[in-house]
Amino acid sequence: MSTATLTIDLTALSANWRALNRLSEAETGAVVKADAYGLGIDKAGPALAGAGARQFFVAVAEEGLALRRALGEGPRISVFSGHMPGDADLIRGSNLTPLINSVDQMLLHVETLPGHPFGVQLDSGMNRLGMEPAEWSALRDIALAQRPTLLMSHLACADEPNHPMNAQQLNRFNEMTGGIDVPRSLAATGGILLGAEYHFDLTRPGVGLYGGLPFVDATPVVTLDVPVIQTRNVEAGESVGYGNAFVAECMTRVATVAAGYADGLIRAMGAQACFTHLGQKLPVIGRVSMDLITVDVSALPEVPEALELIGQHQSVDTVAGYAGTIGYEILTSLGARYDRVYLT
Ligand SMILES: *Cc1c(COP(=O)(O)O)cnc(C)c1O
Repeated sequence: MSTATLTIDLTALSANWRALNRLSEAETGAVVKADAYGLGIDKAGPALAGAGARQFFVAVAEEGLALRRALGEGPRISVFSGHMPGDADLIRGSNLTPLINSVDQMLLHVETLPGHPFGVQLDSGMNRLGMEPAEWSALRDIALAQRPTLLMSHLACADEPNHPMNAQQLNRFNEMTGGIDVPRSLAATGGILLGAEYHFDLTRPGVGLYGGLPFVDATPVVTLDVPVIQTRNVEAGESVGYGNAFVAECMTRVATVAAGYADGLIRAMGAQACFTHLGQKLPVIGRVSMDLITVDVSALPEVPEALELIGQHQSVDTVAGYAGTIGYEILTSLGARYDRVYLT
């Protein structure tokens, strides 16, 4: 078999949820948008529910349908994009809770699904989703009369603890929600780490569950092993790969492994990247191709059947750094071709 193996440790996922849960007095939810950050919502959802999560968040209603099928009745599934035209059947059928973002969404919701649960998303300064203060003032009494499940907002700079934006958004959120007897939520993974004043009633961690920064104490969840298809010696002066991007300065042992940018190993990581074997770093040489990557394995006495890209020796965020991006993007790009193995 030449497809790479993506191993997803559901025990580590559960452990990360419990660890984040211990960091606050609030209820801890779980964000499973984008197919649980690329790891598989049908497996990650039930594992998180088993760990104790009772509130889940997805980006769009279709993701909520997939999650409801995996979880069954019981847990609340809230939808960040709110109530979009055409969503009413999905929202009712899968018992989803839209997080209403605007007056228009509020009107659509009460017209199409009167009495159906909803939460409210407020814009505390990020200017991405949610009602702004003026809109909220105008709508607030009408919305509150229908008992929303949640008032929430999202922090723009929570991964930078000293950024003044954090306190600004906290103040704005407190101004918009103070004195209202409805559960409140502001913190994602970064916000949990900012401290108790950011926790309110419910936290919404995503990336930390999956082993990513800014949760530095996360247990790694993902391992990616890529099979070696072929090995060769390249003499000094010979080149490797497209564009002759690598030219050997001395005899180099080159392994060609079976994954490339079509599997989410983005081309931009290029020759900065390394694979590992038993902790030994092995530099990528030449360009990343669609299905193949060439690796300098001269340091190994014997070439193994597969090289590791992500795992105990190299985190998702380290790999992201090679490509000048963030762990979130590497996780959500993990390819559909991988043979997925779930450890329970
Ligand atoms: C993605 C997202 C989260 C989770 O964020 P992480 O940084 O992955 O923990 C929480 N809330 C909202 C609104 C989001 O869009």
